[in-house]
Amino acid sequence: MPVIKKNVSLKPYNTFGVDVSASYFVKANTLEKILYAINFASYNQLPIFIIGGGSNMLLTKNLNGVMVNPFIQGLTLTEETDSDAIVKVGAGMTWDALVNIAVDHGWGGIENLSNIPGSVGAAPIQNIGAYGVEAKDAIFKVEAIEIKTRKSLEFSNSECRFGYRDSIFKQELRGKVIVTHVWFKLSKKPEYQLAYGNLKEEVEKLGGVSLKNIRQAVINIRSAKLPDPAVIGNAGSFFKNPVVEDVLFQKIQQDYPDVPHFSVSESHVKIPAGWLIEQCGWKGKRVGSCGVHDKQALVLVNYGGATGEEILTLARSIQQSVYDRFHINLDMEVNIC
Ligand SMILES: Cc1cc2nc3c(=O)[nH]c(=O)nc-3n(C[C@H](O)[C@H](O)[C@H](O)COP(=O)(O)OP(=O)(O)OC[C@H]3O[C@@H](n4cnc5c(N)ncnc54)[C@H](O)[C@@H]3O)c2cc1C
Repeated sequence: MPVIKKNVSLKPYNTFGVDVSASYFVKANTLEKILYAINFASYNQLPIFIIGGGSNMLLTKNLNGVMVNPFIQGLTLTEETDSDAIVKVGAGMTWDALVNIAVDHGWGGIENLSNIPGSVGAAPIQNIGAYGVEAKDAIFKVEAIEIKTRKSLEFSNSECRFGYRDSIFKQELRGKVIVTHVWFKLSKKPEYQLAYGNLKEEVEKLGGVSLKNIRQAVINIRSAKLPDPAVIGNAGSFFKNPVVEDVLFQKIQQDYPDVPHFSVSESHVKIPAGWLIEQCGWKGKRVGSCGVHDKQALVLVNYGGATGEEILTLARSIQQSVYDRFHINLDMEVNIC
C-alpha cells in the first residue's frame, strides 16, 4: 500500500514555489496505488487533487483533500513498423526524459517539445506545444482511471478533443480522471518542423538538420529566453495567446501598425499575449514578492515568498489592463487550484 503522508507542504512540488499544504499526499507509482488513494479519499469523504510536476499550476490555498501524484514510470515499445514506433509511457515519467529517449532512438515527432518541464501524464491535459508542434501530433491514445467509477478508460486521439492548450481533460473531464499512461506514435521518417522563430538558424549553427540538433537548438533557445524555475519561481506562459475577430484586430492595427499577429482563419487572428501585456507597461514590473519577467512578459514570477493569492491578484490586474486598453480578455493557461 502507498504511504499516505499527512499535512504535506507542496512548496517542493510546484515550480512557482508557493508554500501551501495538502492534508494528504500520495505518490502513486502503480495503478493499485492510485486506486488505493481514490478509495482512501472516498472513504474519508475528501476531494482528490492531481499534481504532476506542478509546472502548470498556481496553488492559492491549503488543500483539504488527497493530493495524488501519479508516478507510474516506464516506456514500452508496443509496435514497430518501417515508418513508426508506438510507445506506451507511464504518466509519471518526466516529459523531457521521454523526448530524450525518443531522439536517441531516432523517433521523431516530439523533438520540438524539448525542455518543457513536467510529466508525461500532464502533456495531454493542455496539449503542450512549442516551436510549431503540439503533443496532439504524436499522441496515439490516453489511458486514465475515472475517479468516480474506478474504471480504466481509453481515449483515442480524436476523443481527447485537443485544441490550442486544451483538451477534454481540461474541460468536462477536469479533475474527473487520472491519466495513467500515454501512447505515442513516433515517426522513424520524421518531417522536421523548423519554420518557427529562429529554430532553423540555430539548427544550422549546430551543424544541420537532425533530431539531436533540433532538440539541442530548442534547449539552447529556451534556456536563453525562459527563466529557470529552479532559480526563480514561475509556471511558463501564464496566459494563452488570444484569438480575436478580424474587425477588432483591424482597429488595434490602426493604433499599433506593428502589432505582431498570425492569421488562424479568414475571420480570426492570434495576437501574442506577451506583446499585449508589454504594451500595458507590465514587462519587468514587480509587485511585492511577485512580478512580470523582464525578458518575457507572458511569464509571471515569484521572487520568493509570494503567495498564490498575490500572484493571482497580479494576473487579474494584468487581465484588466489588457481589457481596458484592447478590449481583449486574456485566458489563463495556468491551472488555478
Ligand atoms: C519554464 C516553463 C516553461 C514551460 N514551457 C511550456 C511550453 O513551451 N509549452 C507548454 O505547453 N507548456 C509549457 N509549460 C507548462 C508546463 O510545463 C506544461 O503544461 C506541463 O505539461 C505541465 O506538466 P506537470 O506535470 O508539471 O503538470 P501539473 O502542473 O502538475 O498539472 C497541470 C494540470 O494537469 C493536471 N494533471 C497533471 N497530471 C495529471 C494526470 N496524470 N492525470 C490527470 N490530470 C493531471 C493537474 O491537476 C493540473 O490541472 C512551461 C512551464 C514552465 C515552468
